[in-house]
Amino acid sequence: MTHPPARLPRSAVIREVGLRDGLQSIATILPTAQKIEWIRAAYQAGQREIEVGSFVPARLLPQLADTAELVAFAKTLPNLFTSVLVPNLRGAENAIAAKADLMIVPLSASHAHSLANLRKTPDDVVAEVAKIRAARDASGARILIEGGVGTAFGCTLQGHVDKSEVLRLMQALLDAGADRVSIADTVGYADPGMVRDLFEDAVKIAGDRFWCGHFHDTRGLGLANVYAALEAGVNRFDACLAGIGGCPHAPGASGNVSTEDLAYMLGSMGIETGIDIDRLLALRTRVAEWLAGETLHGSLWQAGLPKTFGLPAQALSA
Ligand SMILES: [Zn+2]
Repeated sequence: MTHPPARLPRSAVIREVGLRDGLQSIATILPTAQKIEWIRAAYQAGQREIEVGSFVPARLLPQLADTAELVAFAKTLPNLFTSVLVPNLRGAENAIAAKADLMIVPLSASHAHSLANLRKTPDDVVAEVAKIRAARDASGARILIEGGVGTAFGCTLQGHVDKSEVLRLMQALLDAGADRVSIADTVGYADPGMVRDLFEDAVKIAGDRFWCGHFHDTRGLGLANVYAALEAGVNRFDACLAGIGGCPHAPGASGNVSTEDLAYMLGSMGIETGIDIDRLLALRTRVAEWLAGETLHGSLWQAGLPKTFGLPAQALSA
């Protein structure tokens, strides 16, 4: 393996969110058996963090109605860290009962997006996190709480979102009892300069509790934004296999960075992910069959890995 440039992390985690962020935004409802196959194959390809679904009412998101079953399956795979999204205390109670490892509570830094998406102000969501923390502590469960600050670079409804507001809300989430915080570019407004600027300050505030970067590839800058976040010291990223998905409440948003392209970029730079890319591409082929008719994204699957991928640096220069 080549070595990563000195200023970049030596290893990184790709959290698969295709089963949640991806599937919630497309029309196809994948049967539970196929989702289980997806989780199993992703695990066999080396993925160790998977967001398997969301505890929201099935009438709102019928695509994700089987989340409890998926958590139960994921917990049978040794050392698989299983996360779920929860919009409120009721969802959190389900996540605690299901014994997930981590629950993500989304907060929109855009006031307008927050009202449209969650029918709450950002500060209402902070208050909900405090209730979730109290419920978690009372339950004795070890599940982690992640506060995810979305629309951190602006949104289609409100336009501009102040960086100071993003950082204020991130601090408020930590103060309310979130164990981890993350930042999301929900609608693909960020560029690498903006990411580096915001993420450097976010890491200064949250330290080790800064958990994850979540980038949508709406305008083709997803991987560039990951690189900027790596430069800021962040080494965990959400990604969707085949780049599926978007955001139902952010018109125009397309999918997350594609898992396979991100695994390739990190691997090519010598940043360890533990992922077997050939296995991941084989899984992508199967998922593409399951999702026939849906728009998929990504580049690596078309060209395959370069012949030089994974060779030691000295072999390349010899
Ligand atoms: Zn997203």
